[in-house]
Amino acid sequence: MTTPATTIKLLDSLIAFDTTSVNSNLQLMQHIQDYLSKHGVSSELVHDPALPKANLFAIIGPDIDGGVMLSGHTDTVPVTGQNWTKNPFQLTKEGDRYYGRGTTDMKGFLACVLAAVPDMVSQPLTQPIHLAFSYDEEIGCVGVRHLIERMQSHTHRPAVCVIGEPTTMELVTAHKGKVAMEVKVLGKECHSGMAPSGVNAVNYAARIVNWLETLAIDKQQNGPFQDTFSPPFTTVHTGTINGGTALNIVPSQCHLRFEIRNIADENPQTLLLEFQAFIQELREEMQAKHADCDIETRVLSEYPGLQTPENKAIVALMRQLAESHNTDTKINFGTEGGLFSNILNITTVVCGPGSMEQGHKPDEFIQEQQLTQCMGFLQRLIAHFRS
Ligand SMILES: [Zn+2]
Repeated sequence: MTTPATTIKLLDSLIAFDTTSVNSNLQLMQHIQDYLSKHGVSSELVHDPALPKANLFAIIGPDIDGGVMLSGHTDTVPVTGQNWTKNPFQLTKEGDRYYGRGTTDMKGFLACVLAAVPDMVSQPLTQPIHLAFSYDEEIGCVGVRHLIERMQSHTHRPAVCVIGEPTTMELVTAHKGKVAMEVKVLGKECHSGMAPSGVNAVNYAARIVNWLETLAIDKQQNGPFQDTFSPPFTTVHTGTINGGTALNIVPSQCHLRFEIRNIADENPQTLLLEFQAFIQELREEMQAKHADCDIETRVLSEYPGLQTPENKAIVALMRQLAESHNTDTKINFGTEGGLFSNILNITTVVCGPGSMEQGHKPDEFIQEQQLTQCMGFLQRLIAHFRS
């Protein structure tokens, strides 16, 4: 079986829309809606309350409990600052590779799903196939939350959700959760010759970084541990720090960003409570010196981890339909899966064409064979929900 020309044509049309997360995705969604309605499928846009962006939601087949939800995000990471040798917004074929921004992450999957729509509608399905396409996944699974809110008001739930993030078509059931935070330390400026009368924001930030590193070491040494994940413990990491303006000034500001990537057995909120208690200690110490000193903290993005029990019958069925035989069932990147699983209580797996080795990189590509494999999976899925 070769990849149907329609999949490639659809992929080409999806790549042509620059849906980097900073941009609107409405034109792309209009394009998908037009395509769906051409095949007799009505779809609904769930708009962002403030931005020109939307999720797309459609149900093919009977509106009853059960069936499958095929889910993917329409936004991509930026090409800015990346050294592309090909046009990122036009599909380029070279050998068995198709190049373009989003080919792997994850317009390749969306193209396969759309290419399978004529098959989905050609004969009646006995169980529904839901399509759930989101926006702003790449900036912390932001857009899909509005879609989930909308779905909560829908009485019927699919039995399983397949997130088509690139796993080279292997079935994955686990990934860590993440909380990313920004901390602004506001000290008191003065001439460095008078250092003791100021409040040094860099020094306080350093104590925060040190506290986070101590926590990281504790997690690594004392766990909790879960072999489902790699590394099998929660990681804590400070990624950026900026502070001070000149050597002869006691710095009044220092900003840092850190993240926690938690295993399923660890609630990051518990760690954040300990963190906030430490911040409060520092804040009081600073304010005892100067009342207007402060430490501000803000969550930049967060998503829950995913840990779907492997022994569920529906998981085994998906594995069989995907013809996946992997023993390593985890990935080291996040997806919207934890949200579907936690909030809507839908059994969620991750399985999609392409490899994250190519995602987010210049000259991102997907192998034709990956698209073919995904089309095969979708064909078997449709046949199953028709019988
Ligand atoms: Zn992705």
